Amino acid sequence: NPIIQLESIEKSYFMGNQAIQALKGVSLEISKNEYVALMGPSGSGKSTLMNILGCLDSPTGGRYILNGLDVSKMPDDSLASVRNTEIGFVFQQFNLLPRLTAAENVALPLIYAGIGRKERTERAMEALKKVGLETRSHHKSNELSGGQIQRVAIARALVNNPSLLLADEPTGNLDTRTSAEVMEIFSKIQEAGNTVVLVTHEEDIAAYAHRIVRMRDGVIESDKLKETMMIHH
Ligand code: ADP
Ligand code: ADP
Repeated sequence: NPIIQLESIEKSYFMGNQAIQALKGVSLEISKNEYVALMGPSGSGKSTLMNILGCLDSPTGGRYILNGLDVSKMPDDSLASVRNTEIGFVFQQFNLLPRLTAAENVALPLIYAGIGRKERTERAMEALKKVGLETRSHHKSNELSGGQIQRVAIARALVNNPSLLLADEPTGNLDTRTSAEVMEIFSKIQEAGNTVVLVTHEEDIAAYAHRIVRMRDGVIESDKLKETMMIHH
């Protein structure tokens, strides 16, 4: 039951009369509820692929079927609406607004979706509960730890109930202990039924995932299911 089907995806960036081919034919299927880590050296195409998976950018070749819908040639406005309903993003930079409380930050995407105040508050609290922060809902960023801030960012990514959670180096700014705290949350979210795809440079972080896809020079170099997931409970 694939949520993501990539067929020979290509992406070139054009700069003047020069083209940089960032993706050179990437085919990949990800099933619902999978937990995938995307790895590879800097410049191998991870961010480009994540931007395409997240409907932030379109491929220059190939097909992308998301939840049965071909999004590869969609105009930008349709792509934006798919993005808002299907995708949750978590970035290395937390991107929280410091003047707003945790709950207000989490509710932001719902304002853009035109949802009323009462429902916004309820759904923000529900999302904060999923990341174990319901008791911190009234705190602002400067009253939260780094790990808690990233958990608020995860709650914000979840508030629209997306079918796909994408995270680009979500622990890149965190120390080892805090990274573990954040990764426990991703595991819980995946166990609750979400599909999670994250980019990381760190093997320790990738070890939380059940499948590791490695890229090099714009292609997939290897794609491995972890045997340990059978033993590990
Ligand atoms: P990372 O390796 O952490 O993904 P990068 O430095 O590769 O970070 O990219 C950071 C951002 O800059 C990305 O959004 C990427 O698309 C963009 N970017 C990377 N290389 C170039 C480039 N040559 N010209 C313009 N933008 C770029
Ligand atoms: P990674 O995330 O693995 O570091 P990227 O997807 O950021 O890799 O980059 C892949 C290649 O595409 C690199 O050569 C990078 O410089 C280039 N690139 C990425 N984004 C852009 C952009 N916006 N404009 C031009 N080149 C880019």
